[in-house]
Amino acid sequence: MTNQELLQAFRETGALLEGHFLLRSGLHSGQYFQCALLLQQMPLVERLGAALAGKFDAGSIDTVIAPAMGGLVIGQEVARQLRKRFIFVEKDDHGKLTLRRGFKIAQGERILVVEDVITKGGRVQETLDIVRANGGQVAGIAVVVDRSGGAVSFGVPTQSLGQLQVETLDPTNCPLCKRGLLLVKPGSK
Ligand SMILES: [Zn+2]
Repeated sequence: MTNQELLQAFRETGALLEGHFLLRSGLHSGQYFQCALLLQQMPLVERLGAALAGKFDAGSIDTVIAPAMGGLVIGQEVARQLRKRFIFVEKDDHGKLTLRRGFKIAQGERILVVEDVITKGGRVQETLDIVRANGGQVAGIAVVVDRSGGAVSFGVPTQSLGQLQVETLDPTNCPLCKRGLLLVKPGSK
C-alpha cells in the first residue's frame, strides 16, 4: 500500500476532516485524520492489517498489544492475521495508560505494539514502558499513519503504512483562529 493509496482511503471513507482542530501536541491544524472513520470498513481494515502484518516476521512475535481506544481495531486485526494473542492497555482514572482486566505479560514475551496514528508518539512510548516494566520485550511497532514527520524514534523496528503530513499551525499565529473559526478538539468526540 502506497502513501497515495492510504490518503485515498482516508478521503473515500470521509476520515480526512477539514476544519479547525486542536491537535494533541497543542498545535492547531486545518485538517485531521480521524482513523476511527477509516477503520469502519472491515474489508479495508483487513487490507490495512495485512499490509502491516506483512512488514513483520510472525515467528518473532508472541503477542500484539495496542493502546485503547485508537489502536484496538487495527491491533486486533494485525494480531488476527499474525495468529497471535491480542491485549490492550487503556487509560486509568488519571489518563495514564495501564494494563488492566487481568492481562498478563510473561518474562521475555515478544510483543508487537500496534497503533493507529502517531504524532508525538507519547501513547506508543507509554505502551513500550508498560511492556518493559512487565518483563516483556518490544518486538516492534506498527502504525497505520505516521504523522511525526520522522521526528520520533523509539529505538525498535517501526513500520507504518504511510507518512501523512498535515500542516500544523502555531496557536499564537493561527490564521484559522484569526478568522474566528471554532476550535475543535477531535479524537473521541
Ligand atoms: Zn487556530
